[in-house]
This record gives sequence, structure tokens and C-alpha cells, in this order.
Amino acid sequence: MTKPFSVAYLILSLRYIIIAGLAFLIFYIIKPKRFNRLHIQKAFPKNKDYWREIGYSFLSFFFFAGYVILLFKTPVRQYTRIYDHVSQMGWPYFFFSIFLCLVIHDTYFYWTHRLMHHPKLFKAFHLLHHKSTNPSPWAAFSFQPTESIVEGGIAVAIVFLIPIQRYAFLTFFIFSTAYNVYGHLGYEIYPKWLIRSRIGKYLNTSIAHNMHHKYFNGNYSFYTRIWDMLMGTMHPDYDKTVDKVLTEEPAIAAVEAIA
Ligand SMILES: [Zn+2]
Ligand SMILES: [Zn+2]
Repeated sequence: MTKPFSVAYLILSLRYIIIAGLAFLIFYIIKPKRFNRLHIQKAFPKNKDYWREIGYSFLSFFFFAGYVILLFKTPVRQYTRIYDHVSQMGWPYFFFSIFLCLVIHDTYFYWTHRLMHHPKLFKAFHLLHHKSTNPSPWAAFSFQPTESIVEGGIAVAIVFLIPIQRYAFLTFFIFSTAYNVYGHLGYEIYPKWLIRSRIGKYLNTSIAHNMHHKYFNGNYSFYTRIWDMLMGTMHPDYDKTVDKVLTEEPAIAAVEAIA
């Protein structure tokens, strides 16, 4: 059992190092000048923030790897709806199941996240993640162990709710990591026309999650803003902030960045 655990831990770590590392390299090390105006908060986190985010992310992967082993490699598997071969359900369902994973996760994340913001639960579950008031890509999995257990619970929800093949599951988790890193990027890479478009307005943005880290309340969503919109929990300054970040003249942004 130690070998499958190590393999799972390695895969989880690699997807984080590659995706968050690439984002960090481009936006925090190379940082081309033309990206300046897309920077949401003009200051950069401190080195100790990066190390805290990285350290706790690697701790989270122990819990996530535990879930993978429990669901895929122990007798628990027979009670799940995991199936082996794509041909059993066909390719259309294979892709549809990835979409279903996103719908389930969008709902799971919003409600568990809101719950963890309850004053009685916040400190025990979610305080560590909020130590990053200006998050970097490394913050994507910066959770205290109790929150890691909650976040990893999405895997349990999925394998018991829908038929899922392991590569569909893997594809979902890679996409999820990429969106999570985007949420903590510190830069808005969606163009304003997309955020303002009829369908694009439902997408969750890096600005929205960055505001969640800065203000603590409001903007609890992950992939879409649908639950925030339905429940009236969007931060009241969201639209104003989108305007500010995405319409600022590059020269002004550059001056602010120096200040
Ligand atoms: Zn939060
Ligand atoms: Zn966050």
C-alpha cells in the first residue's frame, strides 16, 4: 500500500509544481511589463508567504493521496461507481462525466466554503488559507489539515454520485488545479469583454477570488459565480473592481506598482 500511496502523492505534487510553478515563473519571476496592468493588488506577497503556501500545499497532498488510495485501492472501491474501461459507458459519457464533475465540485466547493466561513468553524478549518490576503499561485492548496479533509471530500462525493472512469477523474483534477491556480494567480487574464459577456459573466474570475482573500467575505465560488449570484453573496464592489483592474491605463498601473 505504501507504493500506490507514494505514486498518488507524487502525481498530486507534480501537477501542482508544474501548473503553479509555470504560473509563478511567468507572472512572478519573468513578469513581463505588459502584464503590470493586469495585476489585481499592486504589491507582491513576501517570501515567507510563498513558503507557507508551498509547505501547506505539500501537506494537503498527504490527505488527498489518502483519499485516492481509499477510493481506488481498498475494498471501499466496490461500493463506488468507478468503472475500468471507457468502452463500458462510451466516449460521449466519458466527456460528459468530466462536465458533471465540474458541476458537482462547483456546488460542493461553494457550500463547504460558506460553511467554513461560519464564525464557529472558520478558525478550525479555514483560517490558514486566509493568511494569504494577497494570494500567489502557490496558495492553491494552502490548507490546514481539517480543510484538506473537506476539500478532498469532493473525490468521495464524485465516485459515489456518478459513474466515473479514472482518466476522466484525472482530467477533472488537472483542470480543477489549473482553475484553482488561476483563481490565486493575482492577475486577471480574462479579457473584460468576456467577463461582461452574456455567458462569460457567469464565470468565476481571478479578481473575484482575489477579493475574497482581501476582504474575507463574499465571492465564495470556484468555477462559476452562479451560486454567489443566486445566494446574493457577490462582493458589492466586484463590478467596480473589474472596471478598475481591466481599464486602468498601463502608465498609471506602472506608477502604482512602484509606489
Ligand atoms: Zn474563504
Ligand atoms: Zn483561495
